[in-house]
Amino acid sequence: MFQPEWECMPRADLDRLQDNRLRHLFERLPASPFYQAWGPMSAAQLDSPRAALADLPFTTKAQLRDAYPFGMVAVPREEVRRLHASSGTRGKPTVVAYTDQDLAVWADVVARALAAAGAEPGHRLHNAYGYGLFTGGLGLHQGAERLGMTVIPASGGATRRQVTLLQDLGPEGLSCTPSFALRLAEIMDEMGVDRSQLSLRYAILGAEPWTEAMRSRIEERLHVTAVDIYGLSEIVGPGVAIECREEQHGLHVFEDHFYPEVVDPASGSPCAPGEVGELVLTTLSKEAMPLVRYRTGDLVSVIGEPCRCGRTHRRMSRVRGRVDDMLIVRGVNVFPSEIERILLSFQSLAPEWQVVLSRAADGLDVAAVRVEQQPGPVDAQLAGRVAARIRAELGLTLGVVVEPPGTLPRAEGKAVRVVDQRPPSPAAP
Ligand SMILES: [Zn+2]
Repeated sequence: MFQPEWECMPRADLDRLQDNRLRHLFERLPASPFYQAWGPMSAAQLDSPRAALADLPFTTKAQLRDAYPFGMVAVPREEVRRLHASSGTRGKPTVVAYTDQDLAVWADVVARALAAAGAEPGHRLHNAYGYGLFTGGLGLHQGAERLGMTVIPASGGATRRQVTLLQDLGPEGLSCTPSFALRLAEIMDEMGVDRSQLSLRYAILGAEPWTEAMRSRIEERLHVTAVDIYGLSEIVGPGVAIECREEQHGLHVFEDHFYPEVVDPASGSPCAPGEVGELVLTTLSKEAMPLVRYRTGDLVSVIGEPCRCGRTHRRMSRVRGRVDDMLIVRGVNVFPSEIERILLSFQSLAPEWQVVLSRAADGLDVAAVRVEQQPGPVDAQLAGRVAARIRAELGLTLGVVVEPPGTLPRAEGKAVRVVDQRPPSPAAP
């Protein structure tokens, strides 16, 4: 464990720490042009900050976009040491800013995450997250250095060369998206790489939703222990939460820096432990760009039980999906991850899949699944059995096409699981 004094802090001390840090955050908020409009906090709010937080408004992605580029920055320009930006797939990017201290905190939480996965000082990390404005590459990089590892900044792409580096440089750890981990395994098969000759032992995977079934496939094919890392650039980047190798069940949210809530996405009211809702995060130590009750769009639930690793920070479930990724097919709501779980329960299917949405002549939406068969004899009945299980478990009628091995596109970064071929909806009046 990298920082046991923080990670295993007695719960009562952690609660007090959160109160103190929230109070400090409330005092600093007017320095942010966006939060200035809220006015100063009252004495009562400063007196019991955790209770006061629950009554404050949410901050949304749309507000971050409106504040582009610097409307959320709460420190003088010369104290901003780095800027990152989100990919901006749905409009303008959002810019995030870091002070020296923000970068130090970020390196600490990523070092904690790497240690939770099994990393130790002196190990090597093959970091295949993309470098650049995206927070994945540099985030893992600085955390690994903080822990005392040797970093191999492989970044994305050039998969065959990456396999050669994995063979020759002897890293114990791998960090990348789950879909790129599978891509590496596939290229290793093509190149005839014997897994027992590799030194890889653990993989830190994230930046896209994945399932337990996907974890089993990756662990089997790469001979590693795979853990889920969570983060988002708006809050800090990767390192907001991590699974521990002891349980591989739920991600510890580093609560000394990030205060989590789970709310009903429609009403905004708090969810009970175990109930799935939208993760809302408040930064407790961020200087350059503090955020209050930021709606992440990620659907999770809180795991109530203590963890046997000894960390006292609460755990959340792996991300079930995003609020805005839910598919509605003929009135049935479904998350892509639920489809993945069913597909991968068939051992004869490869872990490559896509949902294709289109619009039928009657104006209703249709969805079809494209999935690949594992190498071997063709099973003509397979598509029918898969469709039947999806219908039975999800109440959803989907066309299923089982393609020959190697047909579907491979991701070098985040996988594209949903292909939307529907005509754009007419603009609202
Ligand atoms: Zn744990």
